[in-house]
Amino acid sequence: MEDAQYFYHPLENIEDVEIFEEAVERKKLTPALSAERPYTYWTLELYDQENGIRGGGGLGVLAADTRRVAEQMGVPFTLVTPFYPSETHQVIRDGKMYDDHVRVGYANFGYRYVDTVNIKCADTICHLDVIEKVFENTRILCVTEPNFGELYSGLSGSDHRLYQEVSLGFGGYQALKLLGLKPAIIQLNEVATFFAALARLDELASNGMDFYEAVVYTRKHTLYTNHTLVQAAEAEFSYDQFERFVFPNLKSAAVRKWISDKFTDGRLRLSSVTIEIAELRSGVSKLHARVANYHDIAGNKVKFKAITNGIDMEKWVMPDVMAFYRKSGVVDEIGLPSAGYEDQLEALSAGKIRALKSTGRQILNQVLSTRPDQNGKILQFKDDDFIFDFKRRFVNYKRPELPFRNTAKLREILEPRGAHYIIAGRVHAGDSVMLKKLHDLLWAVSRDPYLKTHVHYLADYDERLAYGLSCGSNVAINVPIVGLEACGTSWMKDVTNLNLLISTHDGGVADVSAENYLNVHGANESEELSELYHRMEEAISAWDNDFDLEFLIRKQLVAFLPVISGARMLQDYLEYLFPPRT
Ligand SMILES: *Cc1c(COP(=O)(O)O)cnc(C)c1O
Repeated sequence: MEDAQYFYHPLENIEDVEIFEEAVERKKLTPALSAERPYTYWTLELYDQENGIRGGGGLGVLAADTRRVAEQMGVPFTLVTPFYPSETHQVIRDGKMYDDHVRVGYANFGYRYVDTVNIKCADTICHLDVIEKVFENTRILCVTEPNFGELYSGLSGSDHRLYQEVSLGFGGYQALKLLGLKPAIIQLNEVATFFAALARLDELASNGMDFYEAVVYTRKHTLYTNHTLVQAAEAEFSYDQFERFVFPNLKSAAVRKWISDKFTDGRLRLSSVTIEIAELRSGVSKLHARVANYHDIAGNKVKFKAITNGIDMEKWVMPDVMAFYRKSGVVDEIGLPSAGYEDQLEALSAGKIRALKSTGRQILNQVLSTRPDQNGKILQFKDDDFIFDFKRRFVNYKRPELPFRNTAKLREILEPRGAHYIIAGRVHAGDSVMLKKLHDLLWAVSRDPYLKTHVHYLADYDERLAYGLSCGSNVAINVPIVGLEACGTSWMKDVTNLNLLISTHDGGVADVSAENYLNVHGANESEELSELYHRMEEAISAWDNDFDLEFLIRKQLVAFLPVISGARMLQDYLEYLFPPRT
């Protein structure tokens, strides 16, 4: 029972909850969460290029932003993630896309080597280096080794993926202990991080705590954040794989039995055990939390608490716009919309918007100076050039090629204004369907004399491009098939950086009503497409009219700023984890 005291139980300790709430308001360190007892956040993917780790998409960006917001709010926070020694970069040669693999060294990014821990896998001992990068009240804690591989390398049910997940869970848990840290909370950013909670359960159960008590303790301190809509879409592992990679790392026979019992026909989906081990469960937007279709082992539908993703405004909002938000009292010092922010936004005139966007265009030009388009051309835009952008992973449900279904119509919209259309987004390794769609799109564009010089594809989409485009474009296009986007955060970068948003009503966009942005809807895809074209025309004319521009940009901000604020998101998490006494 001795270890139990380490596992602070915030939900029952009313006194500490009170101190904690007060402290959140004062944005100070708290006794409930302390330097030795931090909020721990586990993720297989982190998108934080400044700190040497490149992710795949929104899941990783969210993780990086959550830590940054915790830093600003003074919340003690440890993010545990792998450091991948290799990453892919997308290159275009002769109009075709290829992947280049690049080695990455952690020493170049200010990480400190801590020690080496061991885990057991497939009859051998695997050595994992523990490295850390410490900020003021947060840290990035990583496990790594030279053959760790790349993010999402191999199939999702493969041995190598299980090895990576087990390394993060068991290796990362040992890393915490090496540093003398005890997790106040374990947040699992998707089920691939399940093994962190399992490592904790195993430690409690093997240190003499009653097994069921250990389960209760672990459940009360574990938050599972779901980003996936359909449980059936998730990969499964076999019992044989667990015998090789998981069981050798367990000390407690009871834990081993507990997990063995969860297999059906020799197979296991991590979500089913993650649901069992985490009493706290969240989805990443209101719509997503409602429609995510998950069942526990008993067959009951799982309820997810809606905590919509936010972004770190400090990182994503261009400095001049952030200065405006601050100076006019739209947001407070940690990036929360202030009381009455709606009225403060009255100061955002069309003239102000245009001046700020002119600065944004310089930022975009700076980013583009090293990022040629598909024809090898370096693009530079003037203030009065008009830019639509589509920047997000090139995956089917996001429908990157939707506006290109009718290239004649697209030209008809763009040409009178001399408008450009920029696409940035990587195709997943191995997604041959989308790779073909991209090649077909580029080919169709190259056949049209106008589109050829005004539609640009920028390879190797990353944070820099995401930032540059959100600062420098006029209109962002976001048209996922309704029901399939969990949240999405790139549209948040656009709204805060004063772009008009054309979007389907999905993900976090659907947290507010559809009249707050240029909504695309329709009974079928062809209706949606004509609505999209219509909205593009409307966006062009709005930018040519001061009254419309002011009206639409302010309306977007009024509706979305509270959603977008990363500080709001972290506060929502803290309130869910440490519910205020009523
Ligand atoms: C913001 C961002 C994302 C998030 O994209 P969504 O499709 O909106 O979830 C993905 N990749 C990069 C590089 C980003 O900057």
